[in-house]
Amino acid sequence: MEGDDRLHPPVGVVSPAVSAVPVEPFDELDAYRESVLGCTRCRLAQGRTQVVFGSGHPHADLMFVGEAPGFHEDKQGLPFVGQAGKLLEKLLAQVGMARSDVYIANVLKCRPPGNRDPQPDEIEACESHLFKQIELIRPTVVATLGNFATKLLSGRPLGITRVHGQEQETTLGGRKVLLYPLYHPAAALYTPAMLKVLESDFARLPELLGRSLTPPPPPVELSVVAQMAPAEQLGLF
Ligand code: URA
Repeated sequence: MEGDDRLHPPVGVVSPAVSAVPVEPFDELDAYRESVLGCTRCRLAQGRTQVVFGSGHPHADLMFVGEAPGFHEDKQGLPFVGQAGKLLEKLLAQVGMARSDVYIANVLKCRPPGNRDPQPDEIEACESHLFKQIELIRPTVVATLGNFATKLLSGRPLGITRVHGQEQETTLGGRKVLLYPLYHPAAALYTPAMLKVLESDFARLPELLGRSLTPPPPPVELSVVAQMAPAEQLGLF
C-alpha cells in the first residue's frame, strides 16, 4: 500500500458530502492514477501483471524518474522495489532522505517483456502519463535515472555519461523545474566506479533542493546601491 493512502479517511469514516476545500492536487493524482490503471495505449498492456503508476509523497519537492518496471515492480505494482530500489533507498539515506519524502515514477508504466529497452512508440504512448504526474506533484527537482528518462525529459539526445550531475532548468508539466540527470542505480550496482560518481552526484541533491530556480533580480534600488563604491554607499546611511 502506498504511503499517501494514510492521508485519506479510512473506509467507513463519514466525510462531509460537500467540502469548501478546493480539490487538492494529490486527490487529482489519485484520480489520475485510477484512470491509468486500465491503460491499453500500447502493446505492453498485454504482457503486464499491472500498471506501475508510481509512489511516494504526492507533494514531493524531489521526484525520480526511472526507465520501466522490472519483474518485481510488475508483480508488486510499485516502482524500484528490487535491487536497484534498495540502492536508491541507500543513496537517499546518505543524504538524509527516505523513500516517503520523494516521489518515484518511470518513463514506462508497464514492464517490457524480459526487461528489454523501451521502444520509441511505447515511450510516445506513455509520456503524457509522466508529464501529468509532474504537473500534479509539482516537484522543484526532477532527477532522471539513466538514459531513457534523461533524453525524454531534457528533449536532447545527449547520453547520461555526458550529462550526469549537470543540472539544468527546464519547463515540465507547465512549470519550471531543475532537471538533474543521474546514472541509473541498476547500472551502478555492478560498476564500483559508476557507484562512486552516482554517490557524489547524489550528495548535491540537498543543495539543489535548497536552491530556488533562477532567483529574481534584486529590486532596482538595491542593485543600484550594490553597484556604488563603498564610500558612496556609506553616504546614503
Ligand atoms: N528500474 C527502473 O527503471 N524502474 C523500476 O521501477 C525498477 C528498476
